[in-house]
Amino acid sequence: MLNFTVGPVQSSEIIRKIGAEQVPYFRTSEFSNVMFENEKLMKKFADAEEDARAVFITGSGTAAMEATVMNTLTSKDKALIVDGGSFGHRFVELCKIHKIPHDVIELNIGCELTEEILQSYDNKGYTSFLINVHETSTGVLYNMNLVSDFCKRNKLFLITDCISCFLADNYSMKNSNTDVMITSSQKALACPPGISIIILSSKAINRIKNNNIKSMYFNLEEALKNAERGQTPFTPAVGILLQINARLKYIEENGGVKYENERIRDIANDFRNKIIKADFPFEFVCKSMSNAVTSLYTNNVSANDIFITLKDEYGIWICPNGGMLKDRVFRVGHIGDLTIKDNDILIEALKDMRERKIL
Ligand SMILES: *Cc1c(COP(=O)(O)O)cnc(C)c1O
Repeated sequence: MLNFTVGPVQSSEIIRKIGAEQVPYFRTSEFSNVMFENEKLMKKFADAEEDARAVFITGSGTAAMEATVMNTLTSKDKALIVDGGSFGHRFVELCKIHKIPHDVIELNIGCELTEEILQSYDNKGYTSFLINVHETSTGVLYNMNLVSDFCKRNKLFLITDCISCFLADNYSMKNSNTDVMITSSQKALACPPGISIIILSSKAINRIKNNNIKSMYFNLEEALKNAERGQTPFTPAVGILLQINARLKYIEENGGVKYENERIRDIANDFRNKIIKADFPFEFVCKSMSNAVTSLYTNNVSANDIFITLKDEYGIWICPNGGMLKDRVFRVGHIGDLTIKDNDILIEALKDMRERKIL
């Protein structure tokens, strides 16, 4: 099985081997040291300020999104949320559930966030801004220079869901003035699902300390307190944290986050060039793409049928879309343990489908 989805993605052999081992007891100085190292490397790769902190939540990416909304926002906030697809919509739902006053910038499928759109929200009393830097459901990578400028001039607390773009695209918390950056284990970190990570600026930590939250499991103040001794309040997904540690160290020893960005970018560009060259009946959903995924419209053939045929007849997984886009869009991920040769296998399979006249 060859996996081009956007998560869970393929893990390297080093990571899979750790998954086969016994899970150790974790209230030890050895495990604390692993967690200190995880925090240090996550901060480094996110280019966070020295006084930022990282907490590790046992739960998928949505758990970190919910914990962030609950712990860093209150009913006194007025949030502005970018909703350009199903992940943007998730932030809207979370603000509804947790009664955070908010407005929504709704974008059509594949549309970018422009300076004109942002300007129409200037000086409207907002306190915070929530965005999925890469809206994975459509493949749009937003222009964070525009967002960062908008947040600076309006003094907004900036929350970014970088779940699918962390390690795939160049991102700096410092340069973008980001207060909260969220990611999770099963995207470009290329580990199994189960851990999500929240990196918090000093401003975010202050908000958490002044917020009286009603949750035991999602209490980030407790998570921060425990992290001071390299621990978590409750039993974490210990095995995945060990896998994350190996993966972060591997990246550190192999050129760092810059090299990892470039490696993923090269695979993405190779795939995009081959798609164009083969002249398949596809069109790119958007111009501003993340290196993490290529999102394609299909002409005259159901995108979901392509997904099913590749899975059942070729042993290749691409990523289907849900809802309205089910038959119109499919996505090809470039994150995880993939190579240019793997791209060739997928391109050959698509060519074969074309010869069989099912594409
Ligand atoms: C994958 C992803 C998530 C998290 O989804 P989970 O299924 O909860 O891990 C959130 N936001 C974006 C942009 C994602 O790509």
